[in-house]
Amino acid sequence: MVDISRRDVEELGAFRNDEWPIISLYLRVDQEHITDDHYSIRLKNLLRELESAKQRMGLTRAQMQAVDDDVARIREFFRDHGGEFGQGVALFASSRAGLWRVYHVPRDVGNESDLDFRPVIGRLVRVVELFEPLCTCLISRDRARIFAGHLVSFREIAVRLDDEVPGQHGQGGWSQARFARHIEDHVRQHFHRVGQVLFQLFEQEPFRFLVVGGPDEVVRDFVDGLHPYLRERFVGSFNCLMESTTKQVAEETRRIIEAWQRRERERYVDLVLDEALSQDMAVVGLERVVEAVQMRNVNALLVDDTVSAPGRYCLRCGAIQSIGTVGAECQFCGGPLRARENIVPEVYAEAYRQNANLVFLAEPELRGRLQPYGGIGAILRYRLEAPATT
Ligand SMILES: [Zn+2]
Repeated sequence: MVDISRRDVEELGAFRNDEWPIISLYLRVDQEHITDDHYSIRLKNLLRELESAKQRMGLTRAQMQAVDDDVARIREFFRDHGGEFGQGVALFASSRAGLWRVYHVPRDVGNESDLDFRPVIGRLVRVVELFEPLCTCLISRDRARIFAGHLVSFREIAVRLDDEVPGQHGQGGWSQARFARHIEDHVRQHFHRVGQVLFQLFEQEPFRFLVVGGPDEVVRDFVDGLHPYLRERFVGSFNCLMESTTKQVAEETRRIIEAWQRRERERYVDLVLDEALSQDMAVVGLERVVEAVQMRNVNALLVDDTVSAPGRYCLRCGAIQSIGTVGAECQFCGGPLRARENIVPEVYAEAYRQNANLVFLAEPELRGRLQPYGGIGAILRYRLEAPATT
């Protein structure tokens, strides 16, 4: 069992099988309560929900049998591995379709079980921001430390940085000015080497955010000399000692990235409201957003975390049906429909599959600004055609 990554979410989002149903199961597991019965009761209930999902889907006998086999396998899995979980588990199973994946997920992912012909990924998409790869570099005039990970897990990585800057002592024979220049050269070389190491790391495993820790003027000179790709990802710096603990560095990094993400959300809300009000490159309201998703025209989707609305989507082609339609079949392919008490997670999961940026608004102030427009909006990839005038 591994920690989930953005790549896993993308693979799951793209996975589909036309014949065999796929079980998606999310289970919150509080490690400290692992011995009490809450968690096994939750599991039992979730597996029971699969039973009714199976009936609703109108499956063939062979498909039903496949689901039963997977449920048995899931029971066995939890029985044998019950002690190995962290905060939560996400499990995707369809043995006939060759799918069996189990991941550690953050606690916030919650509990859900479902059956579909593709993994149900709304809950993962909701937390994927926590898995944006990031890099933090502590820098001084003669040393550096590099950390990598994401907001959930964070560690120092060992890198080789040879050549110390010469000490400020015992350099007889050099004039003061010449000695200062010599140090500056060494510092520059040191910055250059650290920059190269960062760039190599970036090429191996691209990160979304770069944070730098150190004295302000050192950070400024260091960042100025970085490769443009790295500078683009630089989101802020903090003052710290080279001896800081990993925990301190992780906390500062989190603070900087969360502040940056908050500014980004504000920027998106400004943009979607400006563009939607000028009826140009954005739409607001669930109906219009669903239309934009149907047309694969969503560049970024903004949604109030608390918005919920019923809707339906197609089990065959996956298309979310226009809000308010009543037909019994998919309006695009004629396939069977599935009703959802809350269609919003399907909407953002679909936008995610289309590579849209997802922006979840949790702050009351930001939610308040979108609230008059139904709490949901989208920035478009291309301009809608002007309505025909008759
Ligand atoms: Zn369809």
